[in-house]
Amino acid sequence: MNIQQAIYNDAGYSPDRLNALISPEAQNHLEPMAKRARQITRQRFGNTIQLYAPLYVSNFCVNNCPYCAFNCKSKLPRTRLTIEDACKEADILAAEGFRHILIVSGEDKNFITVPYLAELSKKLRENFSSISIEIYPASTEDYQKLFAAGIDSIALYQETYDRADFARFHTSGPKSDYDWRLDTLSRAGQAGFRSLGLGFLIGLSDWQAQTLAMAEHADILMKKYWQARVSFSFPRMRPAENVDEKLFRYMITDTQLVQMMLALRLCFPDAEIVMSTRESQTFRDNMAKICVTRMSAGSKTNPGGYAEKEQSLQQFEVADDRTPAQVAAMLNSIGLEPVWKDWDKAFNK
Ligand code: SF4
Repeated sequence: MNIQQAIYNDAGYSPDRLNALISPEAQNHLEPMAKRARQITRQRFGNTIQLYAPLYVSNFCVNNCPYCAFNCKSKLPRTRLTIEDACKEADILAAEGFRHILIVSGEDKNFITVPYLAELSKKLRENFSSISIEIYPASTEDYQKLFAAGIDSIALYQETYDRADFARFHTSGPKSDYDWRLDTLSRAGQAGFRSLGLGFLIGLSDWQAQTLAMAEHADILMKKYWQARVSFSFPRMRPAENVDEKLFRYMITDTQLVQMMLALRLCFPDAEIVMSTRESQTFRDNMAKICVTRMSAGSKTNPGGYAEKEQSLQQFEVADDRTPAQVAAMLNSIGLEPVWKDWDKAFNK
């Protein structure tokens, strides 16, 4: 398929089309790609961006991912939040306006149990209309319990779809099971989750091959769990405590990241495009105008970071440290409406 066809034939996803859009040649066509991506985004999502915030509840982890500050070999002090402490954090986020919250944890199954998450969810439901999780992979039965408790969305990144790289980065612990991780979003889909979040860690493997693999994964999920909405995140590696940046052999430029996002938007018009505070203000503001549909704001990546324990171990350094109000004001200034709530627990049937 040539580039012109790939940009303008609105035939949805095919590996050929995506391959053309992420090719080196397509880098000379970013302007028309951005124009088309913007049109599609506004048609499908209006002039809106949904805002959410992460709530880190534990930085304990049994895995040894060398690219993450929470890896079990790190001797840095750890923090777990009781339900009461987690609710204090959530109250701060609710007061800032958030109604969508993302519970994040290392693989800490001894403490972050299904009953813990169910009880926390019950309390969060008082203030939040949608609760997502970004935790360890769980069974279908556990996802059913979590869904029944009011957790309706999930994000789980494969980190890398390349089996050899995956084995190299995940040498022990439950995370070394590639297939169990790969099937996670299917299990969540079976349990009824309404939003399934995909991503890979940008920097670990070749980005073009990863984008193609992630798109295949998304296509399968969309066909099988058509009631759910698929979202793409773009976690580009960030500096973190005790993490050697030489691991990130496949880091990409801003231009390549833009190309990846545009290509996915053109191929998947209904997918959410999520942008976290890993990226800089300038990058986020520019991409909000083109294809982003969901953004985090004012994020802390350490348990207790919103309330008091500022010094606890954070997963990575954020690049955009503006407050939620500042991000909302930025969106207003570029003609977009920040949306704090676009779901209601009454819909979770
Ligand atoms: S990336 Fe996740 S599983 Fe790996 S060490 Fe960090 S928190 Fe644990």
